[in-house]
Amino acid sequence: MAKVPHILLIYTGGTIGMTQDFKTGVLKPFNFDKLLVQIPELKHLNCTIDSVSFKEIIDSSNMNPDYWVEITEIIEENYQKFDGFVVLHGSDTMSYTASAISFMFENLSKPVIFTGSQLPIGYLRTDAKENLITSIEIAAAQKNGKPVVTEVCLYFEYKLYRANRTTKINSEHFNAFTSPNYPALAESGVHLKFNEAMLLKTRRFKKIKIRKKLENNIVLLKLFPGITEKTIKSILEIDGLKGVILETYGSGNAPTDIWFVKLLKETLKRGIKIVDVTQCVEGSVILGHYETSEHLQKMGLISGKDITTESALAKMMYLLGQKISDAEFKEIFETPLRGEMAE
Ligand code: ASP
Repeated sequence: MAKVPHILLIYTGGTIGMTQDFKTGVLKPFNFDKLLVQIPELKHLNCTIDSVSFKEIIDSSNMNPDYWVEITEIIEENYQKFDGFVVLHGSDTMSYTASAISFMFENLSKPVIFTGSQLPIGYLRTDAKENLITSIEIAAAQKNGKPVVTEVCLYFEYKLYRANRTTKINSEHFNAFTSPNYPALAESGVHLKFNEAMLLKTRRFKKIKIRKKLENNIVLLKLFPGITEKTIKSILEIDGLKGVILETYGSGNAPTDIWFVKLLKETLKRGIKIVDVTQCVEGSVILGHYETSEHLQKMGLISGKDITTESALAKMMYLLGQKISDAEFKEIFETPLRGEMAE
């Protein structure tokens, strides 16, 4: 008889495992052992499950790159022992974490599924059980003895997405995430249907590479009409700054004011990388499409194409942590590494 898949559940915190303080009413994380007791259904799944918990469980608003390394190391230590991984994480910053993890693992050949919930698992109307159970089923899904999914994904409210394509769009609805520029990889209804053509191709024969060096001396600068020279100057002159994600308008457009152009040029001259991403939820940066982006293209700004801001931040932290020459950086950033942007 074929061996049933062995899944590791990694609990980092988030609403899924929270409980309400009976005095103050605030929601705070609680012990993971109690979480598993809440879902006896897990015993009926066609896989075996082990679990491990963060040393300190957190609300994901306290997430930072050190915790990303902690998640990575848990997966690394257990990579050979398990067939798939499910990471329970608060929804607030799940897209950032899951994007970062996608870059930190090169040639992944096993599923890593992030999930969480909008209501704690102990609540009667909770969305946690469906999210958790289906995520485990996805992590355990195999075809001809091989995992169906071999990438980092995010599962929420009946949909499986490529993690580095997602963004949180709703703080109340169970349907909290969307993947604006890439279709869902699976939908769960009566059946669990995979959109196989859209999944990343397996790199089963390539050796896995795990990279934990991240550079977080970067900034997210969102333009708005009226932003002052003083504000932009003070941000671009931050001591030790290595990279800027510049959130521009529409298809990557920005002011043509002389002071603005001068500030960007000076920043680039100091070796600081600037990536142009759009404030629009859907669509892509197309440098040179308008006069208001032609100057950015000429300057050598990096196009973030249709990447999400979350993924752009994670990709920049990842690439700045690697030994990449200035000349290569732009080309590599503009190339899809884990399916995070269009070709
Ligand atoms: N504040 C929570 C967190 O991100 C929200 C959630 O889990 O949905 O940890």
